[in-house]
Amino acid sequence: MTIACAGIGVGAAAGIAIGNAFLLCRGPVCVTPSWVKTDSIEPEIQRFEEAIRTAGEQLHNVRKQIPRDTPSDIAEFIDTHLLMLEDKALSIQPIALIRNEGLSAEWALQQHRDALVQVFEKIEDTYLRTRRNDLDHVVDRIMSILLEQHESPYEELRGQIILAEDLSPADVIMMKNQGIAGFVTDFGGPMSHTAILARSLGIPAVVGTRGATACLQHGEQLILDAGTGIVLADCDQDMLSHFAARLAANVSRADELRSRVAQPPVTRDGQAIHLLANIELADDVGIASANGAQGIGLYRTEFLYMNRRSPPSEEEHFAAYSAVVEGMQGLPVTIRTLDLGADKQPGGGDHTAASSNPALGLRAIRLCLKEPELFYPQLRAILRASALGPVRIMLPMLTNTWEVQQVERIVQQVMHHLDADGEKYDRHIPIGGMIEVPAAALNARAFAERLDFLSIGTNDLIQYTLAIDRVNDEVNYLYDPAHPAVLRLIKEVISAGIAAGVPVGMCGEMANDAQFVPLLIGMGLREFSMQPAALLDVREQIRDLHADELTQSVGRVLNNLDRADPTTLLEQLGIIH
Ligand code: PEP
Ligand code: MG
Repeated sequence: MTIACAGIGVGAAAGIAIGNAFLLCRGPVCVTPSWVKTDSIEPEIQRFEEAIRTAGEQLHNVRKQIPRDTPSDIAEFIDTHLLMLEDKALSIQPIALIRNEGLSAEWALQQHRDALVQVFEKIEDTYLRTRRNDLDHVVDRIMSILLEQHESPYEELRGQIILAEDLSPADVIMMKNQGIAGFVTDFGGPMSHTAILARSLGIPAVVGTRGATACLQHGEQLILDAGTGIVLADCDQDMLSHFAARLAANVSRADELRSRVAQPPVTRDGQAIHLLANIELADDVGIASANGAQGIGLYRTEFLYMNRRSPPSEEEHFAAYSAVVEGMQGLPVTIRTLDLGADKQPGGGDHTAASSNPALGLRAIRLCLKEPELFYPQLRAILRASALGPVRIMLPMLTNTWEVQQVERIVQQVMHHLDADGEKYDRHIPIGGMIEVPAAALNARAFAERLDFLSIGTNDLIQYTLAIDRVNDEVNYLYDPAHPAVLRLIKEVISAGIAAGVPVGMCGEMANDAQFVPLLIGMGLREFSMQPAALLDVREQIRDLHADELTQSVGRVLNNLDRADPTTLLEQLGIIH
């Protein structure tokens, strides 16, 4: 067997993928390698030349609008770009690539850009080297004009392994229906929403490779072993057969576990555990039900806002929610109000948020309270969906109890309007909150008194407690659910819920980590919500555990948090391995 290990990153979504590499983005504008048919070569050259003309017209227009008192170097800057556009050196080579090799206009321009960049990088003179920025501006302008002519950059992706510097959650949503085999990114962490989405959609993914796009070629065959975070290239037939067999074994194990979903998730000593699903799209209800979800514990509704220019209307919200409620056939559906912000941006998924600290900024409930025009249609739709089956409202990123009071007031107003419109809804709809900010965890008793249920969001709770950006692969190594501070906060929330008689669940990724399920049961957690694929394994695991014994041993760990390293204690007690 011969193989070349092409890259190691962090497995973001387990599974094996075998497919050809599809290099998605190079440069600031997204370009995919593509070719045209022989009879389309001349029209493609005309398209390229037309794009250069349009770019020139756009720049002339900009130049005309520059006020007279603007410093002259601004106008000179545009003149430089115009000169570059008119220079044949920019167009001769791409036209040759289209004509001789059949490259698409975009891909030919990208190849030429890469060649020119290499020349610029060799220039020693700093000033001249910075002219590379001018080249980027000019090429990006032409590229945008060319790309605008295409509906979607995500064509021909079926069965391919996407290679990209980074992907936004919106990109992954777009690719879902294209049937990609997996993806590999240079950057990004396993707790980013991109990675969470991949897990949820069952797309094998390796993130944070720091260089896969530079060392792998578009079109070459790859194997992705996402469980270990390894990307293999240049594999021989033996290796391909080995991974194909493992892939088939994974599928048949899932089928076997699925045949046992009717067995309830009850521990050996008879403790019933609620197993719910996290979903991102209304379509996910099918797999959630097939895998035995007893309800939806987290519906991440913000994905409705992605890949579109304007927010969804009330009717669009309602269509999605009613599909989920009806699909779950009487089981509870927890609809989280939109959690946009940080790495989840509306529209096409530009994840470079304007704020320099986006995770601490105008996100989730903060955004909804500031922009009621975003919040009202969603609340109206959630309430209307509650007439069709049991629905709970869940508020993300709570920090203060007055945020809950404000939401309660708004919900009352929305109810009045629905009454006036003669719409039906559940007047006693439960309103719960996510506990994912350390301040809310420390103050969980106050939240438990105000809310109908709590759900611990460990992805953010760990991010905010340990001060590690969940999308930054450079600080992944600090992501530690067993950190004493995290364990204390989780315990605080579970105890607050028990004391107030309010149900507490967990919908962060820790809830489906086989290592931590026994620990959480020992801490008193009885409701776990997770990506649908994980339900199968967690159900099996729960049926093997003894809740009472775990309560005793975990109690010893929690009493010793000041004195000993919890991971060592948990290992000694056989709770984690
Ligand atoms: C969490 O923070 O744990 C959570 C479930 O919410 P999200 O991952 O969508 O931020
Ligand atoms: Mg969160």
